[in-house]
Amino acid sequence: MPPISDRTRLIAGATRRGQGRRPVNPPVERASTMLSDDPARMQDASDGPVYGLDGTSAARELRSLLAQMEGGTDAFLVPSGLAAVTVPLTALLRPGDEVLTTDAVYGPTRRFLTRHLAARGITARFHPADASAESVLAAITPRTRLLLIEAPASLTFEIADAPALAAACRERGVLTVMDNTWAAGLAFRPLAHGVDVSVQALTKYVGGHSDLLMGGIAAGEPSVLRSIANTIEDMGWHVSPDDAWLALRGVRTLPLRYEAQARSALTVAQWLKAQPEVADVLYPPLPGSVGHDLWRRDFDGAASLMGVVMKGGDTAAAHAFMRALSLFGMGYSWGGFESLITHETPQLAHRQHAPDLSGQLLRLHIGLEDPADLIGDLEKGLKAWRALQDSNLKPAD
Ligand SMILES: *Cc1c(COP(=O)(O)O)cnc(C)c1O
Repeated sequence: MPPISDRTRLIAGATRRGQGRRPVNPPVERASTMLSDDPARMQDASDGPVYGLDGTSAARELRSLLAQMEGGTDAFLVPSGLAAVTVPLTALLRPGDEVLTTDAVYGPTRRFLTRHLAARGITARFHPADASAESVLAAITPRTRLLLIEAPASLTFEIADAPALAAACRERGVLTVMDNTWAAGLAFRPLAHGVDVSVQALTKYVGGHSDLLMGGIAAGEPSVLRSIANTIEDMGWHVSPDDAWLALRGVRTLPLRYEAQARSALTVAQWLKAQPEVADVLYPPLPGSVGHDLWRRDFDGAASLMGVVMKGGDTAAAHAFMRALSLFGMGYSWGGFESLITHETPQLAHRQHAPDLSGQLLRLHIGLEDPADLIGDLEKGLKAWRALQDSNLKPAD
């Protein structure tokens, strides 16, 4: 039988438990204590969860779906996307180790590396976001234990050659962890490309409705899985049954939402690229964009998140653009059903190798609205931007 598609798999569910007439979906089971029928089997996990921390029905089904999607042997749920990054790093690194990652790594991940891990004797080194695979590999030292890949990179959307990096790291005994949030576990399969651990913020497209926080971690190697499981157990991490249930509801429609939002995003990106106020659109599916070649080679789909580099401008102009919009909310995160905008130029200041952008950087997340309406809204933003540029050009009285 040919492998079923994700669309089918995510609907069919991980298991069809129970007998007789029953709801389609698993119940929300809120539990700390789990009762047992037999004192001799109270610790027997083959009878089901021994304690609430082991996760109840929805969480267990979601874990299983995530493992299948990612092509892992097992998957874990943690309370946020950030925890999905910090758990494997905690599990796999020891004092004296060194971790390599992109300078464009997700901001809170960078903070974890430079504050939490640094205080525990683990060094992070950052390579430029557009570094070639060869130069990333050239930075490996005998102390390098792990390479953290994020592709496309946060805010500037460079795409690393993950298959080449994973293969070379494996040869040299360096572990690889990839933050796969942009691909939502669908458009890129890190484990199939030789990466050891694939993590994603389920908060984004899997949840899909901007109403929960969760992270997913998938891996294949038993020793890696064991380290991660131990860390989750040692730390006492757990996800709420209600959140697991919502994420399970979200994952059923993930492929359809993801595809529809990417289609709209490409329409918006093409339109933006043609506007005279816009210097560049950072959206890998867009021909000519940063990351386009590797995206075409390695990815089967795209997120609906893009960077928009304006021609010049300043913070006031960026804010005027944002205030003029009514369909784009000003808010962080992405992957939900609704469109969002953020001003990202200030965040670039944290980088060691700041990119040389010609103007203000805005980030758009395209939701499920009609792209024609979103373009109409962005036209208002550009008008407000132009008005500010024009008034700046007028000589003072
Ligand atoms: C949002 C995000 C995270 C963190 O997810 P949270 O659930 O918000 O903690 C991690 N990595 C990337 C690339 C993200 O965009």
